[in-house]
Amino acid sequence: MSHELDIIPATEWGFFTLPRPMCIAGPCSAETEEQVLETARGLHAFGIHVFRAGIWKPRTHPGCFEGVGTPGLKWLKKVQQTYGMKVCTEVATEKHVLECIKYGVDMIWIGARTSANPFLMQEIADALEGTDLPVLVKNPVNPDLDLWIGALERLNRAGIRKLGVIHRGFSTSAPIAYRNDPGWKIAIEMRTRYPQMTFFADPSHMAGDRKYLLELSQRAMDLGLDGLMVESHCDPSCALSDAKQQLTPRDLQTLLESLVIRDSTSDDTAYKERIDTLRARIDVIDESLLKLLKDRMDVSRSIGRYKKEHNVAILQAVRWEQVLAETVARGGELGLSEAAVSAIMTAIHDESVRVQNQILEEAE
Ligand code: PEP
Ligand code: MN
Repeated sequence: MSHELDIIPATEWGFFTLPRPMCIAGPCSAETEEQVLETARGLHAFGIHVFRAGIWKPRTHPGCFEGVGTPGLKWLKKVQQTYGMKVCTEVATEKHVLECIKYGVDMIWIGARTSANPFLMQEIADALEGTDLPVLVKNPVNPDLDLWIGALERLNRAGIRKLGVIHRGFSTSAPIAYRNDPGWKIAIEMRTRYPQMTFFADPSHMAGDRKYLLELSQRAMDLGLDGLMVESHCDPSCALSDAKQQLTPRDLQTLLESLVIRDSTSDDTAYKERIDTLRARIDVIDESLLKLLKDRMDVSRSIGRYKKEHNVAILQAVRWEQVLAETVARGGELGLSEAAVSAIMTAIHDESVRVQNQILEEAE
């Protein structure tokens, strides 16, 4: 099922100045008025226009620093007044939304624990009805694209059209270096389905450690995402939340300056001719692949009929294991990765079993 979304891209919200990346930066949490203003000063000094700070913090354990709450919204107002920056914060309930509207917050975002919860998403959408506040929706903590889209739909149905997404990776118990699994595949799928949607990456929550911020930010840019939301604190070592992953404004400036931003396309004629030639070759190869697949399925059908005549089961596990092992080995000799060959062969084999099952179910 396709779920249409009626979206206004962020280039039309009047917030972000090009070129890429559109950047949102600020501390994980607003802690004190001084910390908020000092961080904003450092960010404003090198051209950041959109300031983030968590006011209500969803923490794993009770008793941790859970945000300063409503008084922090006054500090955000000071950031607007002093530096002319736009400000945004995370909301998770109707009360948060109403407080943000009351204090003139320019944009809100929905956190990963909240976008995973349809009840809360509906509550937030209802509270936003009739406003045109821009909303960024982080991916849910679990890698569920439909749940993410559902959250966007609820907001869109409440009339919110200034919608964007933030990819921050997924919770995982796998032993990986990062705090969250980047799971770029889901980001690419989201990007492909809604190309008009403004797309941020949050390398801070993906990384969990400032040493991985550059590589993750670069990857987001290489994938053509529009912007970055990065946590920045005037004194990261003293931060009350997410201390390890925050950067000073100065270090953030260095990071942004070292990113290599590739154009999504190029106007150069020679480039166009060359890329068109290469794409034409790809199209021809894809066509041949389809023909080969058709031939292969025709053979599968013959095998299916033959097995049926001789009353032999479709799935021959030992034979399949052999085929897989051999193709992976031969693929390796050709420089193809084991993961790719294995995924492609498994998909082909699944289809072959399906085709043979069809034969079995056909009336005699
Ligand atoms: C945050 O941005 O500070 C935050 C809590 O992020 P997430 O919802 O991605 O964990
Ligand atoms: Mn954080």
